[in-house]
Amino acid sequence: MKLKDKVALITGASRGIGRATAVRFAKEGAKIIINYFSSESQAKKLVEEIKKIGSDAIAIKCDVSQEKEVKEMFGQALKKFGKIDVLVNNAGIVYDIPLFQKTVEQWKRTLDVNLIGVFLCSKYASEIMLKKGGVIVNISSTNGINSNGPDSADYDASKVGVISLTKNLAEELAPKIRINCIAPGWIDTDMNKNLPKDYVKGEKEKTFLKRFGTPEEIASVALFLASDDASFMSGSIMVVDGGYK
Ligand code: NAP
Repeated sequence: MKLKDKVALITGASRGIGRATAVRFAKEGAKIIINYFSSESQAKKLVEEIKKIGSDAIAIKCDVSQEKEVKEMFGQALKKFGKIDVLVNNAGIVYDIPLFQKTVEQWKRTLDVNLIGVFLCSKYASEIMLKKGGVIVNISSTNGINSNGPDSADYDASKVGVISLTKNLAEELAPKIRINCIAPGWIDTDMNKNLPKDYVKGEKEKTFLKRFGTPEEIASVALFLASDDASFMSGSIMVVDGGYK
């Protein structure tokens, strides 16, 4: 098992990529802190699923953009498991609407959750990890490398920020903490469920593998980065997009 006796906190683990990562890590022996924001019943169901796998988990409601809540979440996690070895900064939101219809409030909310949330969780995780070491995995997006288009301008900016923050954190937290980033392409989750069918068809056509990825395919890469298999990696950005042009 690659994460035997490790404790992992995964933000936005109630659904999608975060959920798949929680299950994958638990199968590799990790105890899991499932952070959620609004999907309480799904988070609680996941706690039970992880216990059935033979590991342990708790679910903690916390808005990752709110410093007080983040501080409390890490306090609660530490009280329950006594340590945190791995943080996956996965929580994210998107407003797919025309650029100039986006309000300042929507811009700020996107940056607060997707970027400030990564800063806050990394800050409180690192206070714990700097003593005994640890690993952080950030989830950015290929939108942070090549902008996807004006409808997601705020989201794209937040994901550029996550890539930049990964490199700065890797320098700041070395050598005790390794921090790397995954830039997924299209993944089949709730985040994309309202996209127009024709647009989805076109995007699949542009993807070399002719499909969207699964959350489990991102979880595999998160496991690699969280484990000792990636012991000489820090500050790296891994693109996982099935090939895209
Ligand atoms: P998803 O299915 O929509 O799930 C989003 C998760 O984020 C949910 O668990 C949600 O929790 C949580 N969340 C939202 N706001 C939060 C907040 N303020 N505090 C804490 N948690 C919050 O999305 P996904 O596709 O799995 O995306 C996961 C990550 O991958 C995101 O960072 C996203 O930008 C990135 N990504 C996704 C794709 C893709 O194509 N799907 C591609 C590239 C990158 P609740 O349900 O409890 O509210």
